[in-house]
Amino acid sequence: CGIVAYIGPKDAAPILLEGLQRLEYRGYDSAGLVVNNKGLKVRKVKGRVADLAGAVPARFKGGLGIGHTRWATHGVPNDVNAHPHLDTKERIAVVHNGIIENADELRAKLIADGAVFVSETDTEVLAHLIARTVQDTGSLEEAVRKALKSVVGTYGIAVVDAERGSEIVVARNGSPIVIGIGEKEMFCASDVAALVRYTRQVVHLEDGELAVLKADGFHTFTMDARATSKEPLTVDWDA
Ligand code: GLU
Repeated sequence: CGIVAYIGPKDAAPILLEGLQRLEYRGYDSAGLVVNNKGLKVRKVKGRVADLAGAVPARFKGGLGIGHTRWATHGVPNDVNAHPHLDTKERIAVVHNGIIENADELRAKLIADGAVFVSETDTEVLAHLIARTVQDTGSLEEAVRKALKSVVGTYGIAVVDAERGSEIVVARNGSPIVIGIGEKEMFCASDVAALVRYTRQVVHLEDGELAVLKADGFHTFTMDARATSKEPLTVDWDA
């Protein structure tokens, strides 16, 4: 339902929680976040963003993270089905809005290939798919692109790799993703409402586009790895 991402010099967790709170009006049944600080630190709960805030320990430091509010489509609302979802080795974490239509088929293949699934969600297949390719390609962007080629459905996603402490990859097909450009920090969300407190400079992804976010900038690509050029818009909004 809602996505927020941050990369920069500040601690990500408070910014993610604040952004998720701004998305509460959209409705949701659970919330979660991950920060990447020498390994993925994950908290997710059924219930309110305030419950999540209470469950995030002070030691969740670090300037790279992604957060989510879930509106369950596949699997009941509970702590395990809340996002982010991780692969078996806990290297890749994914938050996702939308529906993966061929999740059952992909899950069966991934299980045959050794993946261990813990949730009932359609989203978890994305984490296992990306983890499988990131080892071969060495590039998170490439791994996300390859994984999405085998996916049928709608998504706005944000992805982090435990072994890449300085980038977040996001992609969109049928579910909005907007990048917020800051001063040596980058934001991303499914809704500009989560960003306006931090920046007014935004870029909307189109369907079929991916972006790599780093603290000092971003690059956008098509699913065929062609670079796209985007003009930032200035949002006029009373935050
Ligand atoms: N289909 C996913 C799930 O059920 C994402 C739902 C959402 O958009 O929040 O977990």
